[in-house]
Amino acid sequence: MDSDCEIFSDLDSGEESNENTEFATEIDPVSVDEESEVDDYPFEILSTNQIAQHMADCIKEVNAVVGLPPTVTRILLNHFKWDKEKMMERFYDGNQEKLFEEAHVVNPVKSSRASQSSRQRRSTNQSSEDCEICFVSYPAPLMAGLDCGHRFCTTCWDDYLTTKIMEDGVGQTIACAAHNCKILVDDESVMRLIKSSKVKLKYQHLITNSFVDCNRLLRWCPSPNCNNAVKVQFLESRSVTCRCGHTFCFLCGQNRHEPVKCELLKKWIKKCNEDLASCNWIAKNTKDCPQCDFTIEKNGGCNHITCGNRTCRHEFCWICLGKWDIHRTIGTSCNRYSASNESKEQSRTSLNRYLFYCNRYMNHMQSLKFEHKLYASVQKKMEEMQQFNMTWIECQFLKKAVDILCLCRQTLMYTYIFPYYLEKNNQIAIFENNQQDLENATESLSEYLERDITSENLIDIKQKVQDKYRYCSSRRNALLKHVHEGYDEDWWQYL
Ligand SMILES: [Zn+2]
Ligand SMILES: [Zn+2]
Ligand SMILES: [Zn+2]
Ligand SMILES: [Zn+2]
Ligand SMILES: [Zn+2]
Ligand SMILES: [Zn+2]
Repeated sequence: MDSDCEIFSDLDSGEESNENTEFATEIDPVSVDEESEVDDYPFEILSTNQIAQHMADCIKEVNAVVGLPPTVTRILLNHFKWDKEKMMERFYDGNQEKLFEEAHVVNPVKSSRASQSSRQRRSTNQSSEDCEICFVSYPAPLMAGLDCGHRFCTTCWDDYLTTKIMEDGVGQTIACAAHNCKILVDDESVMRLIKSSKVKLKYQHLITNSFVDCNRLLRWCPSPNCNNAVKVQFLESRSVTCRCGHTFCFLCGQNRHEPVKCELLKKWIKKCNEDLASCNWIAKNTKDCPQCDFTIEKNGGCNHITCGNRTCRHEFCWICLGKWDIHRTIGTSCNRYSASNESKEQSRTSLNRYLFYCNRYMNHMQSLKFEHKLYASVQKKMEEMQQFNMTWIECQFLKKAVDILCLCRQTLMYTYIFPYYLEKNNQIAIFENNQQDLENATESLSEYLERDITSENLIDIKQKVQDKYRYCSSRRNALLKHVHEGYDEDWWQYL
């Protein structure tokens, strides 16, 4: 069985570079402490070599039970899309002969008898054999065959397999070279019969690819140039972070979108695309001051706006245009939709309701875009701090603060999809409290990083920034934990 791993031992996976990024993630604090506590969604990152090893382990595990040659087990497992239970169920419950036929493999019990008799045949006539492809007569050692009994010269095999692999891109399901023979060529034979290491490598990639693609608990990291796969223990619409730093939803492969599930997000995006006009209207970057009508242009992520008109200086919320200080008190927040003041007319209410959530969704999306500008100003601040005898590592808290700010904005953005599709109940009320807490914490961090930080002593900043982002992070975790609990307990009733 160990030969299975050896087949893949020369697989080029860029291991060294992976190790470097592993170190980088170790000092990247976001993925270590703050997030891990909420993400009780266990997953592993596998390099290409580890995938091959995992595949070999699967075969080993099944073989310990069924006792077939590993090459046959691999073909059978692939036939069942690497569902071990399903394969073994069929192996013991059904007609084994039919199973082997379906999977295009020769029954190993029969094949050992067949190869024995063919060996006997060959020994009696050892001088030479005719290849049925090129019709040249070769000495026996230059001929090779499969359990189906078809034998060709090694040059013809090499040509045939190379074409299949390099031109047709076939890996797991290469059939015997004989016309009309459906028996699959096993991996050991392929590796033995191919001479070019480039073709061998391509074959290994094809095999691991189909292993990952078939396996529901594995997914390639969608980041370009990343060769890692993520392995989970159960399927859920949850985000995972690869060693390369990319975070994505395991189920759909898109960017992380908690707390909503893939289906709901798809539905929402479809709706947004249909209502593009209203979304464009919402997404504009200028608004008029609700007190003096002075036109204000937004150029940062923070939603606490102070009117630019010097005689006004009205402080208000960019999202709901309400007075800012009222936002700090519970019960008057701008995150809850209330239909009470709307027209009784159903259609109008439903449009207003949609615009309410869409407005908030788009607003956080836009703020998120602005927060990316913050990285540049934070970078400058970090350089300043290094002049004050702070080390590069000691300054990292500022970058981390922006990381967490972006993470919270992103989560907030998706939280507005959630109540749009859900029936109001007590749990939604709790959800909206959590949403409000996260929103307040996020705006407070945003405001601090964008404006207040400049007026303070550089050395005092650290504690304040850390307090603020830790609070944000804990509010985000609380919200996500509650939503996941709701998924488990069936609290969320879709409209
Ligand atoms: Zn030949
Ligand atoms: Zn054959
Ligand atoms: Zn990756
Ligand atoms: Zn998803
Ligand atoms: Zn004003
Ligand atoms: Zn507001």
